[in-house]
Amino acid sequence: MNEIYEISILGKVVWNLHSLNNEGSVGNVTEPRTVILANGAKTDGISGEMLKHIHVEKMWELENDKNKLCEACKILEPARADKSKDVKSKDSAITAVQQALKDCKICDIHGFLVQKPTVARPSTIEFGWALGIPEIYRDVHIHARHAIGEKETNEGEDKSSQMVYHRPTRSGTYAIVSLFQPWRIGLNNVNLKYEINDEERKLRYQLALKAYQSMFLRTDGAMTTTRLPHTENFEGIIVISRTNYPAPVISPLNNNYKEEMNKIRDATKSIDVIEFSSLSDFVNKINGISQENLYKL
Ligand SMILES: [Zn+2]
Repeated sequence: MNEIYEISILGKVVWNLHSLNNEGSVGNVTEPRTVILANGAKTDGISGEMLKHIHVEKMWELENDKNKLCEACKILEPARADKSKDVKSKDSAITAVQQALKDCKICDIHGFLVQKPTVARPSTIEFGWALGIPEIYRDVHIHARHAIGEKETNEGEDKSSQMVYHRPTRSGTYAIVSLFQPWRIGLNNVNLKYEINDEERKLRYQLALKAYQSMFLRTDGAMTTTRLPHTENFEGIIVISRTNYPAPVISPLNNNYKEEMNKIRDATKSIDVIEFSSLSDFVNKINGISQENLYKL
């Protein structure tokens, strides 16, 4: 049976000299994100929120007809369906979700929260943190902004137009985990009925896959104006379940994640494991699953 139930994308991406996600700024110093792993090691991270945001932006960009998005998503407002008068005028959770799913591809794929009537629709796409596989190289570069025509002086005379600031830059291999649940596309989570037809579900699925391709082909996060990442490679596995079996997720922090997944495939007979060795291979392998039909409850 060639249907898609769930897909997990697990891989290692190599980003050089990027500053995709930062903790925030203290004075004129911007701090990179630091996270702690199970073994106590501190490493560098890019949050799932940031990665999900990048995926949303790519979906928006790749959608030719922006009229297929709700008013909020048309201008990439995070409120999503909660801004729609048509949704908020509904008197039940069922009809509010129904309206939101019919109106907007991004609300459907990425989820939303409506305050009145109160209802949440979980995202069909999930991202974990991108985690630096030790050793990540970090550096904080000091930059000075100079006014045009200003002469640099050796002494620290008070120069109001000069601003010294510190920018973190990191290089390394990052573990990526993401889960996509195509069986839930168009599915009203209140009454468990599909609100859009199979053809539209497939179009939304294809748009989401394209956004996955695009976000690794060009990763737009923070500070890309001057820290556009030098993306070197992306390799890993695409795990597909074709029947109602939750697609497993194993972190590429585990060096044996591919072998483990292949053993799980053999033991469960419920998943396919597709390896990819480069960015172009990733694009090709994603293309290879884009024409398949989606599992339905
Ligand atoms: Zn929307």
